[in-house]
Amino acid sequence: MSDETRKPKAFATLCGRIFRETDPQYFPSAMHRGKNIRLCTDACLGAFLADPDIFCKVHRNSDKTAARMKAEIEHLIGLWSTYDPTPKSD
Ligand SMILES: [Zn+2]
Repeated sequence: MSDETRKPKAFATLCGRIFRETDPQYFPSAMHRGKNIRLCTDACLGAFLADPDIFCKVHRNSDKTAARMKAEIEHLIGLWSTYDPTPKSD
């Protein structure tokens, strides 16, 4: 058993992707408003550098959309798993 007990690494890129058990040093990074941020690919970095503020704005919006879709899907799954023909009214 030569395996080291390595803690799984996880980090999120500015564009909203989450990488696990991956070393962040292999991903492109940049400074933005005093913070070191990471991007998933060089193409993503290029898009960020072209206009950082627009990039952040776009990805913030897509985060909201994703969160809303996730909530709707969870709501539907909830309806299916606890199907009750009598509608609740409150
Ligand atoms: Zn990206």
